[in-house]
Amino acid sequence: MTERLFYEDSYIDTFQAAVLECQPDGEQYRVVLDKTAFFPEGGGQYSDTGVLGTAKVVDVQEKGGVIYHMTEEAIPLGACVTGRIDWQQRFMKMQQHTGEHIVSGLVHTAFGYNNVGFHLGSMDCTMDFNGEITKEELLEIEQKANEILVRNLEVQVTYPSKDELESLEYRSKIEIEGQVRIVTIPGCDVCACCAPHVRCTGEIGQIKLTNVQRYKGGVRVTMLCGFRALADYNRKLQAARRISAALCAKEDETAEAVVHLQEECTDLKRTIGRLQRELLGYKVKEVPPEEEAVCLFEPDLDGEAPRLLMNLVLDAGHLLCAVFFGGNDGNYRYVIGSKSLNLREMVRDLNETFNGRGGGKPEMVQGSLLGDENELRVWMKEKARILGHE
Ligand SMILES: [Zn+2]
Repeated sequence: MTERLFYEDSYIDTFQAAVLECQPDGEQYRVVLDKTAFFPEGGGQYSDTGVLGTAKVVDVQEKGGVIYHMTEEAIPLGACVTGRIDWQQRFMKMQQHTGEHIVSGLVHTAFGYNNVGFHLGSMDCTMDFNGEITKEELLEIEQKANEILVRNLEVQVTYPSKDELESLEYRSKIEIEGQVRIVTIPGCDVCACCAPHVRCTGEIGQIKLTNVQRYKGGVRVTMLCGFRALADYNRKLQAARRISAALCAKEDETAEAVVHLQEECTDLKRTIGRLQRELLGYKVKEVPPEEEAVCLFEPDLDGEAPRLLMNLVLDAGHLLCAVFFGGNDGNYRYVIGSKSLNLREMVRDLNETFNGRGGGKPEMVQGSLLGDENELRVWMKEKARILGHE
């Protein structure tokens, strides 16, 4: 069994230990010490990182009471080594974990729900509860949680005897064998837990519940505590300022400004649509009435417009209409229609001749091809002549 210094004091960030074992493991080394302050991965929380001497500790795992430190360098056996954990990361995790106990305790008291899943990730922290919580209820929980921070309550860690445990009411996610470690936040929560916690609730700084969503018959709540909440605030403030400047609106009036902008955009689209239909009407008028196979090259048309133009030409009584659009380096897209001809065979020939792809219904085909405007005009005219006489 490795002696766990984080049980004694979760604020130990530097310690001396004897190296009992150092085994190569892939490209890394697996180091066992007589004691450690490194908290291993477990209970939804990722492991501490840091250094042993000069060797970087990239992962820490626990198996059968022994704690294994995965390092990037070998460490001489028997030597006394100085361990240093990445304190900024560890303290941040302590803020999240104690924050989780406060929120879970408040939810348990208010609704009777249990925390059935906890994940402390590198970006945020999620808690799953086995019951519904609305956004409004979550705001109330958040308010109460922050009141508990302001009261700066002492976080108590105790090791009750079996008898004491029997009369104690506490939250617990799993059956625990052996000595149970109880973490108490007075008046808020009592929970069995092995993880390092802050000494007083004030050290958490702030609890922000950023999201609640339905999850497995209950809800998943996302939380940011302490410096994470501050970093999130700063990111969002920066975004709010940029949006505010871009919209020329006050920071707290950007939502209304966006709605206004969307309305303007819808009006503009409507106007563009109307003008485009008018323009297409003029284009149709320019087509000589006697022309049977109409071939139009319209590089600037996109969206619905090419098909609209084709239909207008056909409505004017022409036998066939091909609209070629796009057209970067001869890379055209096409839409071809006819009210009387079957275009399926024709489009196969077209694709074969001009390295294209596409198809459709007998009365309308579309696709893309590679071709020269003049060659396409000649080809279409000839094809329409043959088709028209079949
Ligand atoms: Zn816990």
